[in-house]
Amino acid sequence: MKKTWMVMAACSAIGACWPGAYAAETAQMVGPAFPDFQTVAQVRQACDTGLRAAQARVTALEKVPASPGWIGEYDAYYSATEDAYGPIGFISNVHPDQKVRDAAEACDLRWQDFFTSTSQNAKLYRAAKASVPADDIDRETLRQTLETFEDSGVGLPPAQRAKAKQLSNRISLLGQQFEKNVRDSKTKVEYTDEELAGVPEGVLKAAKRDAKGHALLGLDYPTYYPVMERAEKAATREKMWRAKMNEGGAPNLKLLAEIAKLRRDYAKLFGFDSYADFTLRRRMAKNTANTTRFLDEVKQAVTDSERRDIIDLREAKAKHLGKPLDKTTLDRWDVAFYTERLRKERFTVDEESFRPYFPPEESLQFVMRIAETMFGIKYTPVQAKLWHPEAKAYAVSDAATGKPLSSLIVDLYPREGKYNHAAVWSYRGGSTKTGRVPQAALVVNFDRKGLTIEELDTLLHEFGHSLHSNLSMTRYAVNSGTSTQHDFVEAPSQMLEDWVFDRKVLKLFQDVCPTCKPVPDELIEKARLAREFTKGSMTARQHLYASFDLALHTAGAPEPMALWAKMEGDTPLGYVPGTMFPAGFAHVAGGYGAGYYGYLWSLVVAMDLRTAFAADRLDPAVGKRYRDTVLSQGGQRPPELLVKDFLGRDMSPKAFFDYLAK
Ligand SMILES: [Zn+2]
Repeated sequence: MKKTWMVMAACSAIGACWPGAYAAETAQMVGPAFPDFQTVAQVRQACDTGLRAAQARVTALEKVPASPGWIGEYDAYYSATEDAYGPIGFISNVHPDQKVRDAAEACDLRWQDFFTSTSQNAKLYRAAKASVPADDIDRETLRQTLETFEDSGVGLPPAQRAKAKQLSNRISLLGQQFEKNVRDSKTKVEYTDEELAGVPEGVLKAAKRDAKGHALLGLDYPTYYPVMERAEKAATREKMWRAKMNEGGAPNLKLLAEIAKLRRDYAKLFGFDSYADFTLRRRMAKNTANTTRFLDEVKQAVTDSERRDIIDLREAKAKHLGKPLDKTTLDRWDVAFYTERLRKERFTVDEESFRPYFPPEESLQFVMRIAETMFGIKYTPVQAKLWHPEAKAYAVSDAATGKPLSSLIVDLYPREGKYNHAAVWSYRGGSTKTGRVPQAALVVNFDRKGLTIEELDTLLHEFGHSLHSNLSMTRYAVNSGTSTQHDFVEAPSQMLEDWVFDRKVLKLFQDVCPTCKPVPDELIEKARLAREFTKGSMTARQHLYASFDLALHTAGAPEPMALWAKMEGDTPLGYVPGTMFPAGFAHVAGGYGAGYYGYLWSLVVAMDLRTAFAADRLDPAVGKRYRDTVLSQGGQRPPELLVKDFLGRDMSPKAFFDYLAK
């Protein structure tokens, strides 16, 4: 049984992890309404009822004999359990009431235990193995289903099978605690107004104050980035940066160390030396050797440009402080600040200056309009009672036929106790066989004053994940949308990443907001050039994250903090003693274990996909072909074939390495 897919944004280069005008809302959500979780009692009741019904379905499924239709019966069971589990697995990340979040987390663990037991169910496994697929889609779905059973330990001797279950449950529990430590952290950094010189006024105004009148700043993105990019005083940035680097704290380092060891022990039960070997054999990358070779190639391609970037930033710092270059060292907390200064100086681009052009609600409508133009679909706001008044629901329909396709929920702004990164939860998969429609939730944390162009890009990236979910037309729910291979899943989102730097695309903003001032063409061009400018160091940082994650999941399962200090220590800017970045690296503790390289791997695919849109990013004919051959296919065909269907040729890394070499 697969768990609900959650796709997170990547971590940023400076060490942090990230990532209206419509008619009255009278229509309803496409598919079921989101369950009403206002109280702990409601969560507990939904949990008990859902688990009881799921167990009854397993018992019924055990009686279904092997046959070509078995996979359809399995998918019916999958769909029913997903409806009970999906919303509860998600709500712990966004519900405003901590007690409800805690109840949802407790329920989540019970579901994880149930999923492991079901995946170890020998009766179901035997029926799946003996079933003869009717065609390629059934064959692929059966193959993946068998792998899920096998990777859960169904084929192990009883004692080892029990051990696999115990390890799996423990890893779920520790991963949950890790995320909770980050999400529920109430860290505030205390500043005098003088220390905050250079920081945009809006951040100061919004800040809570203590009895002494000091500003108390949180680590949420709308606060963190302006401080890192704008605070004139290095000590101010250092204080904020250190607080961010210590997010999760020592308890999370212990959790991560244990998770890595348990994963290694898990892999050993299956005869593998490392968790990387165990997990990569199911990915596009196939094995650790291929992944390492790829990461080495990336490293080689960016080493020089990273070094050049650092020289540029050091020079900027020396100039700013009026110090000789040889007496100037660049610190980690200088990177964002001097990058911003250089962007302003060379390209006269100021990220903050974009906010008035991109108000949040209109930005959401803008990315919807891009999708409407490219893919022939339509978004309509609908009435829905959700976990917070600021969360909004939309129906997605086919523009040509008016056919309702799916639903999307969007939660735009930060608040205490909310997941603080950017991610999409595809909590309900679709199935053309049963007419079941997909549903997804997009969660981000934007500044109410408006978005920078980089944030608009982040929104479009996440929106790409929601499109992957919403436009899925797979036969089975188990393959729906983002339920594809982990090193492919980012590609459809990354493909859209340079769309917002295209004039023609940005013109759509005035369609959704005629009163919004258009961004001047030259500003877009400058922003595009400015973005290119640090690609060496940005890619090098992604390379470091990916290499760390892979090394953590090798046979030795090394202690995370020592490993990180060594690996970051080998980079040009070195490691800063006392910091503990891995404590906040939720990707690695969660579903991206030995999978972070997937961001770079998918980017290779994304850049190749992008070549088809070179002439016109909004071309509806190419968009339709892409929707039909890639997005709608979810995981029911291998990614290599989807790309080939769309491009008419085999996949190529050329566009990616050309981009890095430019
Ligand atoms: Zn993503």
